[in-house]
Amino acid sequence: MNNDIEQVLYNQAQINHRMDEIASQLTAKYQDQCPLIVSVMTGAVVFTVEMIKRLKFKLNLDYVDVSSYADGTHAGKVKLVQDLSSSIEGRPVIIMEDIIDTGHTLKYLANLLKGRGAKSIEICALLDKPNRREVNVEADYVGFKVPNEFIVGYGLDYSGLYRNLPYIGILERSVYEN
Ligand code: 5GP
Ligand code: MG
Repeated sequence: MNNDIEQVLYNQAQINHRMDEIASQLTAKYQDQCPLIVSVMTGAVVFTVEMIKRLKFKLNLDYVDVSSYADGTHAGKVKLVQDLSSSIEGRPVIIMEDIIDTGHTLKYLANLLKGRGAKSIEICALLDKPNRREVNVEADYVGFKVPNEFIVGYGLDYSGLYRNLPYIGILERSVYEN
């Protein structure tokens, strides 16, 4: 284990098992619909590639990049940094995200894609911190609920690091507090 990790919450075997379960649900639902999978960079990249290998239906893959910032009066403002390259009008969309925290990111994205005429929008998130929600948004599929700690691994980073850890863990506080 990495010394900067205080506790491993879910190991690779547990993540694999949970992804298999979610993939079965999606496979049952999306036969013959050819949805567009929208991966939210960069945190969702590991989850997305592992998930799509398990999906047994035709799909397309695209991605967006968003960043959040506070503009003085409003916390949790979200900005689109990289847009989709495909049209989504009339198409089912599945957004793949690493973690839902306050909910601002996914609320913004879901509204944006709805406004472009997506046929349907579902949210598939690897992790959820339900106690931190500031806006009303729920994922249709959640891998695991996690405590209000700083989580890294499996795509999630701290300062660009730890995305490659093959497990989900709590980052040691001394790494980001001093
Ligand atoms: P929200 O808009 O829901 O507050 O935030 C979602 C984004 O915040 C996630 O996509 C992720 O980038 C980041 N985030 C929230 N909580 C954590 C966490 O515990 N660890 C990491 N690495 N990122 C987090
Ligand atoms: Mg993110």
